[in-house]
Amino acid sequence: MDKESIKQALLDMPDKEREALIYEVQQESNIQSKVIEARRNKLDNKQGTCPHCGSCKYTMYGTDKGSKRYRCKSCKRTFTEYTGTWMARIHKKHLIGEYMKLMEQEKSLDKIKSHLGISKQTAFDWRHKILSGIEHSDKGTFQGITESDDTFFLHSEKGSKHISRAPRKRGGTAKKRGINNEHVSVLVTADRVSEIDLTVVRLGRIKKKDINQAIGDRVSEQTILCSDSHVSYRGFAIDKKIEHHPIRADLKQYVKKKIYHVQHVNSIDSRLKKWIESRFGGVSTKYLQKYLNWFRTKEILKESNNFIEEFTLKSLEDLSAWAKFKAIPDLFQKLMHFATQN
Ligand SMILES: [Zn+2]
Repeated sequence: MDKESIKQALLDMPDKEREALIYEVQQESNIQSKVIEARRNKLDNKQGTCPHCGSCKYTMYGTDKGSKRYRCKSCKRTFTEYTGTWMARIHKKHLIGEYMKLMEQEKSLDKIKSHLGISKQTAFDWRHKILSGIEHSDKGTFQGITESDDTFFLHSEKGSKHISRAPRKRGGTAKKRGINNEHVSVLVTADRVSEIDLTVVRLGRIKKKDINQAIGDRVSEQTILCSDSHVSYRGFAIDKKIEHHPIRADLKQYVKKKIYHVQHVNSIDSRLKKWIESRFGGVSTKYLQKYLNWFRTKEILKESNNFIEEFTLKSLEDLSAWAKFKAIPDLFQKLMHFATQN
């Protein structure tokens, strides 16, 4: 299609649709330079920190292969606007804007591969680098009625080259009855305003210390906890000295005083499971936390009309994103090892 006919096609569209399309094209083509510009501005205005030691005292220090360079006054090391972020060692940075767009559309790795001309492994790695960047964003204090419930995903080694047990059919059932080490426990917590937490805690039945580790620093005296009546939650609420309303589903009690229930987190859980199954056909336990980060950010940004930009900006704020990405195998080993020890 030549330029004239593209122009004519645009002119033939209803005004509103044309404006929306032009806006979309601008968003897509500018996203990478826009977010990096924002990051540079922050650093240039001395609002950033050194990714090596966290100091806020640094000076400009020339450029490094097109990147801006800075030098920390404390640890004397240099860094660029990319250091520590998930973009740090990505060579084809010009493709990031388009990648983010495809990621927002939740395209498969094969589609991304053919669309961008990158390998499937690269497409997979970029996904988890980005998702590592949002692991700790938006973690404020739970306010008012806060629901918490644990849910299970069957342990999966999907995509792994070294499968240590016979693969289970997708959506299959556990071999043993009851909750055991084939079950990955995920804690789902949300208040009724905007705070949400999704954390992989362990293989098997959840314990008090898991709840504490996942959300312990996010509760305050303003938090009113609703959960099932499991002893771990009771203990957690006592330790934290917070109001607690245990719901006895075993006695067919689902709502107390019309307001205390766990129906919001149960709905998050069922949407989460549906999303993971329909979009990815299940995910491996090793990467589960990253998909939880993705789903959580989708929930937080669901009202946003500028999703890609906000998502990308958020992901770049974490200066330990690169380290988190590298730590995925170790964390997975820990999760598996922990199950046999505790
Ligand atoms: Zn430093």
